[in-house]
Amino acid sequence: MSQKKFKGISTVTLHTANHENDNFSHTTPIYATSTFTFGSTDEGMERFKSDDKTRIYTRWGNPTFTAAQVTIEALESHGLKNEKGEDLEVKALLHASGQAAMSTLFFSNLSAGDTLLSHYSLYGGSQELMQKVLAEAGIKTILIDVRDLGLLDTTLSENKSIKLIHLETPANPTLQCVDIESICTIAHKHNVKVSVDNTVATPYLQQPFALGADFVFHSATKFLNGHGSALHGVMLGKDLEFMHTKAWKWHVLLGGNSNAFDAYLLIQGMKTLEIRMERHCENTVRVAQFLQNHPAIEHVNFTGFTTHPDYAIAQKQMKKPAPLLSFELKGGIDAGKKFIDALEVCTRAVSLGTVDTLVSHPATMTHYGIPREERIKYGITDGLIRMSVGIENIEDLESDLTQALAKI
Ligand SMILES: *Cc1c(COP(=O)(O)O)cnc(C)c1O
Repeated sequence: MSQKKFKGISTVTLHTANHENDNFSHTTPIYATSTFTFGSTDEGMERFKSDDKTRIYTRWGNPTFTAAQVTIEALESHGLKNEKGEDLEVKALLHASGQAAMSTLFFSNLSAGDTLLSHYSLYGGSQELMQKVLAEAGIKTILIDVRDLGLLDTTLSENKSIKLIHLETPANPTLQCVDIESICTIAHKHNVKVSVDNTVATPYLQQPFALGADFVFHSATKFLNGHGSALHGVMLGKDLEFMHTKAWKWHVLLGGNSNAFDAYLLIQGMKTLEIRMERHCENTVRVAQFLQNHPAIEHVNFTGFTTHPDYAIAQKQMKKPAPLLSFELKGGIDAGKKFIDALEVCTRAVSLGTVDTLVSHPATMTHYGIPREERIKYGITDGLIRMSVGIENIEDLESDLTQALAKI
């Protein structure tokens, strides 16, 4: 589908997908079907021969998936050019979850004997996929602090089996940021590809393709959907040949496809991405400042604070500070538990990027599967609390935090 030129993000999310359909439905129809009919054997043969495999069998594609995919493609390539100065074209593959999309990303790029290099602060599921699944498939993972660019260069020189660098920036839940552009320059010098988990920043704040990334990944379950109503994952690439052959093969044969109802929910959710993100970002600054000034708080991790160790990188590559923060109370884990239990407006739940504020405790929840010494080294201490700030009215968030902090 050729890309339409829109100036703003909201127009992209509202008008990129082709909504034309036989029954004039205004919203994208939910094509709840496993298979698609052929008028004749010749017609079936034509559809099999064509590059567009979306009207054959739903594991291969479905028009509802296509509407979600083209919108995400337009978001991640919005305003970007390729080396020839033409509009950048990228390809997205929608999956059943972030983990399914990440499996396609890793397995289409790595085989037994290859090595994956990543930063040591990662989403728990990503690290577990690397160390518990890839390891059994003969793919090694090296985790280093890739903010040390000298160490990155040496590691790449010394390990010729590294084929992919996977970055997550800002990282969930430590909010560490890594310099996508500098890392891509070093990686490409060594002929190594780079993928970026853009879940926390979203294309509203950060476009990894503009900074040299080869692949972009999203848990679309989070800010892209925005309402916590379904799971989805997306893998995008700018090597269209690779996406249509290697990535597509793993996607279709591992069977990690989405379903039409969830794809519909994603399409509906993305329509308000820009206005949600504006409010998420505005509220997060206010909450971060509130917590920072509160006497019960030891430390706040927020990419908008000049004291954040990666503040300069965050400023360089994101339009605004990310709408996610984590913090530690002076009273440690006990105070943290009392605080979380006393919340009345904020929701106690894992996940992030929903319209309501979510509060979780990584050490006992999302990062429970990572050994304690390791997670502490990465910055996930026992008392760390993570907050995904929603779009509630700020006065209600501040009074909820005030009353809960008074009870610790
Ligand atoms: C949630 C999340 C994932 C995994 O996605 P699922 O949709 O839960 O499978 C990967 N990376 C990050 C940063 C996440 O927050």
